[in-house]
Amino acid sequence: MNNENALFNMRHTASHVMSYAIKMLRPDVKMGVGPATEMGFYQDYDFGQTPLSVDDFKAIEKKMRWIVNKDFALQKREISVAEAKELFAGDPFKMALIEGIEKKGEACTLYDFVDGEGNARYTDLCAGPHVASTGQIGTFKLMKVAGAYWRGDENEPMLTRVYGGTFADADGLAAHLHMLEEAAKRDHRKLGKELDLYTTSDLIGSGLPLFTPRGTVVRDAIQDEIMKLQYAHGYRRVAIPHICKKDLYETSGHWQKYKDDLFHVHGKGDTEFVMKPMNCPHHTQIYASQMRSYRDLPIRYCEVTACYRDEQPGELLGLSRVRALTQDDGHVFCRMGQIKDEAAKIIDIARAFHTKTGMWAEGNFEVYLSVRDPEKPEKYLGDSANWDIAEQLLEEVAAEAGLKVKREEGEAAFYGPKLDFQFADAIGRKWQLTTIQLDFVMPDRFDLTYINEAGEKERPVMIHRAIAGSLERFMAVLIEHYAGAFPAWMAPVQAVLLPVGQQHDAFTDDLQKQLMTAGVRAEIDVPTETLGKRIRASQKAKVPFSIIIGDTETGGGPLTVRRYGAQKDEQMTVEELISALA
Ligand SMILES: [Zn+2]
Ligand SMILES: [Zn+2]
Repeated sequence: MNNENALFNMRHTASHVMSYAIKMLRPDVKMGVGPATEMGFYQDYDFGQTPLSVDDFKAIEKKMRWIVNKDFALQKREISVAEAKELFAGDPFKMALIEGIEKKGEACTLYDFVDGEGNARYTDLCAGPHVASTGQIGTFKLMKVAGAYWRGDENEPMLTRVYGGTFADADGLAAHLHMLEEAAKRDHRKLGKELDLYTTSDLIGSGLPLFTPRGTVVRDAIQDEIMKLQYAHGYRRVAIPHICKKDLYETSGHWQKYKDDLFHVHGKGDTEFVMKPMNCPHHTQIYASQMRSYRDLPIRYCEVTACYRDEQPGELLGLSRVRALTQDDGHVFCRMGQIKDEAAKIIDIARAFHTKTGMWAEGNFEVYLSVRDPEKPEKYLGDSANWDIAEQLLEEVAAEAGLKVKREEGEAAFYGPKLDFQFADAIGRKWQLTTIQLDFVMPDRFDLTYINEAGEKERPVMIHRAIAGSLERFMAVLIEHYAGAFPAWMAPVQAVLLPVGQQHDAFTDDLQKQLMTAGVRAEIDVPTETLGKRIRASQKAKVPFSIIIGDTETGGGPLTVRRYGAQKDEQMTVEELISALA
């Protein structure tokens, strides 16, 4: 068994140990589901009239340690549905789970916690797998409680979800707790406010962030960098309206599935409009506006534009999950034989961009190739021979770009295979940012064609791609990755000028003009406070360069520069400062 599976089993078993402990303390508790998670486990409970809180954790953990120390063996047994119903008669959630098993025509599996004398001390309904005995669950800690609807459905009862962390040893737990502490310090909602990057308004609504001038600098820096790279790779910018008739999505096939997640717009007439949740169907109509020849391909469109999704209010979170998200979107229309070159170009753009943002570093990202499930070919639309070629091409292009790829069978969308890039931030959390998604279906739905060498109509392939994903989410990632101390090229203010006294004001004004002319975002902090206080303020605002201007500097000497986080000053000419900020 590999380590990942061993940890998974520990985590999952720990949730049973918690349930056993809770059952001892609260015999009337009813139980929902309890899976393992990436860091531990959770379990849903109904505590009736006496809610559980973090104040109860100490007592529960004490009981859990007792269960671990007893080293009960976990023994599996199968029983009939009827027996299971009798055993769990008092628990409506367990009964619902058993009915689910009954519908599938499966047997019920139980796990008994068996003591040294062979007596079952606790029994839970579960298919496993678990560790062999409770002594093997490693180091655990209960983390938090939250509300969660039964089956995730808001029409169902609200249960109490108790989260725990489980790790192979105490070091693993300590590292995780440290990560959580760091994550709280870096929380983009907190830093976004402190650094004045974005705001929200009750009058506008939740999940609809407003970017301040400072935040807009960061956004623009990201956007400009992506656009620059895209232009260099033959992309051309397009612009589309943000609403459209619902007919567009009926044709694309999205309407049936997604109509409840869209914002509907009512105009004067009978036509039903929606806010666009994606840009692909719009882009197909630009492609379709002219007769295309094979000589015109590939055609590459890109734009940075907002999409709108009616997310559940409870799911909204700062910039990470919003109702209006700005995508760095692009679509390539090409022939089968051009897929490889186009994917290579997108990888080049992603490499250059994420190297500049600091996310692309050896060992810091993973690439996933999502392909078909070989067992279920009927799940996928489009010509199977084309799928074979496309999966092969994506694998080759990634290998030629020097990327190690994890092949994920069954993870492809029904319309085509894809390459996803997942990056780790400074505290090890993973974020999927870049994606390259082939599509054999949408060109069909919109009857897109080009004329081939023989004068016949052929279908192009469509490639959906994003480099940063949504700008809002990517900003959240970068704010937390850098803990608000952005690299100079994207910092809202790149240099703050600190004249020591009023006699240095004129020189400081001139220097600011000179820097601003060179494109540097420079601000002056006038001497109403002591120099020490102003230096501390510029460090708190995480400005990359603080420039101290006293008699030496006004007398023609080099500039005295303090970089963010540095203890010592450096001497630089104006030209050196400007090139350091590029
Ligand atoms: Zn289990
Ligand atoms: Zn698309």
